[in-house]
Formats: sequence, structure tokens, C-alpha cells
Amino acid sequence: MGFWGTKMAQEPSPSSLDGNKPGFPKKILANNLEDKHLCNSCQKILRRPLQAQCGHRFCSFCFNKIVSSGPQKCSACIKEDLFEDPTSILKQGGG
Ligand SMILES: [Zn+2]
Ligand SMILES: [Zn+2]
Repeated sequence: MGFWGTKMAQEPSPSSLDGNKPGFPKKILANNLEDKHLCNSCQKILRRPLQAQCGHRFCSFCFNKIVSSGPQKCSACIKEDLFEDPTSILKQGGG
């Protein structure tokens, strides 16, 4: 009488876990890829896009991950602040 241990089979269910992932890889949409199609967190193509209060978009997975530890400053907003640095050394001087 052999003893057969129970084997844990890990079968990913096709649809229920769909929102539990970051974005799609960019290669599936190589053409016409614009920033608005990309998640500001994982930098991939938005999966179940969510718009944050600031207007930036994230995958629902990424957004939930970000806010799970409390209110966060949006990484895209931080990036844009850098580009709008008022004390830029490229400031034009008057002659
Ligand atoms: Zn994402
Ligand atoms: Zn933002």
C-alpha cells in the first residue's frame, strides 16, 4: 500500500488574477506607444488603468501597491518637479 503525499499544484486561474499584476510588456505594442499608455510606476503598458488624484495613471496593481503603505507622493509628479526646477543653472542672464 503506497502512500501518496498530497502535491500542491499551483495552477494560475486565467481571469481572477488578471488585475493582480503590473502592466503588460511594451513589446506587445511596439508602435504608437505614448506616455499616456504607460504606467508611471512599472513603466509598462497600463493594465486596468487607474487615474490618481494628480492625473497620472497607474495599473490598479501598481496603484494599490503604492498606496498600501499610506498616502504617497506620486513618482511621476516628483519627476516633473525636477524638470521644472526654478534654480536651473541654464538660467539666462541679462546682458
Ligand atoms: Zn504598473
Ligand atoms: Zn502624479
